[in-house]
Amino acid sequence: MKKILLSSPHMSDAGYEQEYVKEAFDTNWIAPLGENVNKFEEELAKYVEVKHAAALSSGTAAIHLALKAAGIKKGDIVFCQSLTFSATANPIIYEDATPVFIDSEGDTWNMDPVALKEAFRKYPNTKIVIVVNLYGNPAKLDEILEICKENNATLIEDAAESLGTIYKDKFTGTFGDYGVFSFNGNKIITTSGGGMLVSENEERIEKVKFWATQAREKAKHYEHKEIGYNYRLSNICAGIGRGQLKVLDERIAQKGSIYQIYKNSFSSIDEIEMMPVPINSKPNHWLSVALLDSKITPLELVEALEKVGIESRRAWKPMHMQPVFKNYDFINVVSKPVSEEIFERGICLPSDTKMSEEEQQIVINEVIKIIKL
Ligand SMILES: *Cc1c(COP(=O)(O)O)cnc(C)c1O
Repeated sequence: MKKILLSSPHMSDAGYEQEYVKEAFDTNWIAPLGENVNKFEEELAKYVEVKHAAALSSGTAAIHLALKAAGIKKGDIVFCQSLTFSATANPIIYEDATPVFIDSEGDTWNMDPVALKEAFRKYPNTKIVIVVNLYGNPAKLDEILEICKENNATLIEDAAESLGTIYKDKFTGTFGDYGVFSFNGNKIITTSGGGMLVSENEERIEKVKFWATQAREKAKHYEHKEIGYNYRLSNICAGIGRGQLKVLDERIAQKGSIYQIYKNSFSSIDEIEMMPVPINSKPNHWLSVALLDSKITPLELVEALEKVGIESRRAWKPMHMQPVFKNYDFINVVSKPVSEEIFERGICLPSDTKMSEEEQQIVINEVIKIIKL
């Protein structure tokens, strides 16, 4: 039997990606920058309705440069959502700053605004907050932004998983002062690897592009006044991105339908419930995640599914539980942290847009069979 995957790259049937890549070959615009990079920035910015964008080599690079654009300094405290992928938090450490992890809330699975307020009471001088829109679900971005404004803090929105998600009529990634997208292989669209930083602030985005190209000053020789990075996206990868952007709406519709089928199929099963859809939102449903309430643990289910050729994965393990971050503070306002509960009970089900309805039915039947054991 063919393996059913969690979320794999899905190029357009029309072959748009190859056309843009071919264009780059034909003009020998393989590297460094070029038309595809400029156009990919323009087209993505237009899609999410933001003014400025910088195409970068990864989402992680985008978070790193967002922190620098926000003026991070050694020793600064940064509030960071705990339930996320480590790439959200690692760049805080690159800058010798100190993360303080914030718990999630049940409605969205993202940063709890009440816990964020509590964090500002404990660390009132904090100037940077990183919120995440996990699995494509938006955080309560308006409330989070309001709390940041009251405290004169910069909001960085890690929208790596939520490209195309709408919250209160606005695209995620455009609420914060900076928005981060990822085009890693498993994301809703991919450039094989890549990222984008977006902002309304033109001056900061220009500065990010400067840092991302080795901080080379405008001079006839190589002149450097600041430390730079090699973080730009290649013109080839940007070509793939331009093609993928054309099928983003189609992918969102497919992912939404996958979520809905799981939701309907499990509605009468007590041992499993699907992740919530936050109010006032239209998620991109990047991954469909379920919470188990059965004798079978998520790990046992992952292993049992693997035996029948179905790829699934446990939910993110919160950063405050990670050995590498064990010395940092964690703020929660309920006795059993929501992020820990999601980790203990969550399983990411196959959400691959190449999966057929028949294959999804196989997944559903297997899941029900296993959790009912
Ligand atoms: C994928 C991801 C990133 C990192 O993106 P890369 O392009 O892989 O560097 C950051 N944050 C979250 C939440 C992600 O899922």
